[in-house]
Amino acid sequence: MTETILILGGTKEAAALAADLIRDHPDWRVVTSLAGRTREPKPVAGEVRIGGFGGAEGLADYMRAQHVTRLIDATHPFATTISQNAKRAAQQAGVRLETRMRPPWRREPGDKWIEVASLEEARDAIPAGSRVLLALGRQHIAPFADRPDVHFVVRMVDPPETPLALPDHDLVIGLPGAVAKEEAALLIKHRVTHIVCRNSGGSGAYAKIEAARALGLPVIMVNRQET
Ligand code: NAP
Repeated sequence: MTETILILGGTKEAAALAADLIRDHPDWRVVTSLAGRTREPKPVAGEVRIGGFGGAEGLADYMRAQHVTRLIDATHPFATTISQNAKRAAQQAGVRLETRMRPPWRREPGDKWIEVASLEEARDAIPAGSRVLLALGRQHIAPFADRPDVHFVVRMVDPPETPLALPDHDLVIGLPGAVAKEEAALLIKHRVTHIVCRNSGGSGAYAKIEAARALGLPVIMVNRQET
């Protein structure tokens, strides 16, 4: 039976999955859905649709209209709203749902992690006078605005459209370094004393964790919430 697969994407793993499915099942229709947050998303094999569906109901309507036979949630582990919508929409539309979630990073010997449950807890865990690599998307930096006693180094994939509401910061535009050596060079150049990041898992953003381990720097790690 030919299938119509809808992949909820926006991750490297989702793009790899689309390519694998198309290679292994050339007769299947494979559609990857992106939220549209990145200005120039990397090319994805198969069909791509961009933008929100309008909640779980909108996603269920889309799946009915497109005769989707299987929904695969391969979104980022911190993209919790879309994952909750996927569960509800799959039930509503009677479509089988598979979830492909990256496992979280585990603490290795030499890691100095301060584990917290939220961005607000991360903000409060930063010692005064620190220099912090804020390895978070632009939509997550607002809680750090009331720490004028901290110097932030903010890394973003795309330049922000409006100035960041952080009192004291340097902006680094670009993707995370692929290897620890590259990340260590950035940490040393900016005299970083702490990293704040979320436990995303996967390999794409792990080099900074290895660099912090090598340099003996503490990482304030925001853990995942149950969805
Ligand atoms: P979110 O908070 O879970 O979702 C917010 C809304 O964005 C959803 O209700 C949905 O709008 C829309 N949306 C999210 N993912 C979508 C998708 N794949 N296709 C179509 N609409 C989508 O999500 P988020 O944290 O803003 O992340 C957005 C996307 O970026 C996700 O696809 C995720 O895989 C990717 N991403 C996120 C992070 C992160 O740190 N959160 C990191 C890397 C990549 P409607 O309700 O209108 O359908």
